Amino acid sequence: MEMVQVLDRLPHRVVWNIPKFKDLTVQHIDGVMERVKKSMEKDIQEKVDTSNKTRDVLRDRREYDKKTKKMVVKTLAFRHYLRIPIGEHRRSLIDMVTSNHKLAVERLRWAERNKPMVQHDKRLCRLCREKVEDGAHVLFECSNSCKVIQLRKAFMQRLFRELLADKRVVGLLAKYVHEVVLEVFYAVEIYRLE
Ligand SMILES: [Zn+2]
Repeated sequence: MEMVQVLDRLPHRVVWNIPKFKDLTVQHIDGVMERVKKSMEKDIQEKVDTSNKTRDVLRDRREYDKKTKKMVVKTLAFRHYLRIPIGEHRRSLIDMVTSNHKLAVERLRWAERNKPMVQHDKRLCRLCREKVEDGAHVLFECSNSCKVIQLRKAFMQRLFRELLADKRVVGLLAKYVHEVVLEVFYAVEIYRLE
């Protein structure tokens, strides 16, 4: 009975109707365990999808499934980026993915040393002081540092070649190229410096 109550109190309740003793088989218990696992995964996925720290980067995150050769949602999995061989690169990426970094969007979320917490849209970039200092801004948007611009340009050129070689994302790349070049740039008359 205690187990029935515990399962009923899970964030996603599992209703367990205790079977007759003769039906209490290994398969039956395996089935209950599987339902508890599903309930746990649903709860974790909901937390990831709605937490301030993870909802932008990790919502709908997909993993490549070797068996089905498709991108699928896996709530619990050994992520491939945990195998990045250079330790400090691996840690930096994991910190970025889990919003465990020291950028303003996180640091100013909390009140510290007698300084109050800062509203989200006022957690501005330390370099340009215009946009919110979050991962997307510093990596792909901020243009207030020559060093960052240089690093980003080299990264983008390398990334383009890598994407072109990757069957899983080449369709996404083609769509982006089409939309940017054909639909946006070609729609405007070419500019000639007089
Ligand atoms: Zn900036």
